[in-house]
Amino acid sequence: MRFRSSVAIDLGTVNTLVWVAGRGIVLEEPTAIAIDTAVGKVAAVGAAADALADKEPQDIEVIHPLRDGVIADLDATAAMLHDFLRRSRRFGVLRPNALVCVPSGATPVERRSIVAALGVRRPRYNVRLIDEPVAAAAGAGFDLTGGAGGFVVDIGGGTTEVAAVAGWRVVRARSLRKAGNAMDEAIAAAIRTEMGLIISQRAARQLKMTLGVTGGAEGWAEAVGIDAGQRTPRTDYVPGGLVAVALEPIVATIAAAVHEMLSEIPAGLAEDVVRGKIRLAGGGSLLPGLAARIESAAGIGAVLVEDPLRCVVRGAAEILERRGDQGKHAGPGLRQLILPQAGPDVFWCYSSGWREMTAG
Ligand code: ADP
Ligand code: MG
Repeated sequence: MRFRSSVAIDLGTVNTLVWVAGRGIVLEEPTAIAIDTAVGKVAAVGAAADALADKEPQDIEVIHPLRDGVIADLDATAAMLHDFLRRSRRFGVLRPNALVCVPSGATPVERRSIVAALGVRRPRYNVRLIDEPVAAAAGAGFDLTGGAGGFVVDIGGGTTEVAAVAGWRVVRARSLRKAGNAMDEAIAAAIRTEMGLIISQRAARQLKMTLGVTGGAEGWAEAVGIDAGQRTPRTDYVPGGLVAVALEPIVATIAAAVHEMLSEIPAGLAEDVVRGKIRLAGGGSLLPGLAARIESAAGIGAVLVEDPLRCVVRGAAEILERRGDQGKHAGPGLRQLILPQAGPDVFWCYSSGWREMTAG
């Protein structure tokens, strides 16, 4: 039996993805919501809201409601998810199931806030949580059945998650607050001090993608910003070396964390890790030159997964499907513990084993 009403959600700091059983990935949007502060209503959600960021239209407040992988603004997250899911969902399901990915280091309070965000409006979801590294590993193509393991590095917008997983569980995981957003900020700061040019995060992100740590194909890229002295718009050429130097501390931190985590894995996992290689996921892994840096720091192979931005939601979807297709003992999805005192707000949490919690 398949759970037609099931959804898998990758609620990322920068991008949110929704997968629906039987339909696949139906939504990929920036994690953003714009509020019209004059009337107190939602003005735009997702890409439309993100497009207004940094532009400061009157009476519009653009909120990126997640910070470092966890919910920083609960009301805004709930409103945003409500809109995303309304667009993704089929009608007629009273209580759909949602599998939501959470960073492995999320606290119980942070985990609860995700359940709350999906519980404040109708339809209320049966929410289950899964550790993001496990979903990332599944999406990266590791088969974790039979206790097999793997090593994944998920470089998102807010955090980089470095994790060893085995048998659908996290073995060791570490979350760094150095990822895509920090790279953008470092680039913008360097261009301001070195070139006297104030650029938006969007422009910094563009430079990051074209130049990376290698300097790109041309060795430079164009950027438009505001001249720090004249306060008027200016177009300038940004040398690749400047961006590479700005990115260096972040790239070095990520590479060092990978190296450190490798030195902590149990000996029994070494063979799986060497054979499966380090798999890089998340949008940040697309940074030109990053995979090579990680590989040389780690001393073992590092490969980019296919379609890194969708890796986590694909893995979560696979875990949901596994539960539907292969009966009750396949994968982590099936063991639902129903306690007698459980009220309507029960959710199942797959993290250090199945746990049951109540919302609120
Ligand atoms: P999250 O899970 O935190 O929402 P994602 O996995 O969606 O993050 O990745 C978003 C991050 O990846 C952003 O910081 C974005 O700038 C970065 N990114 C996307 N494409 C590239 C690229 N080609 N090169 C470098 N960084 C990229
Ligand atoms: Mg992510």
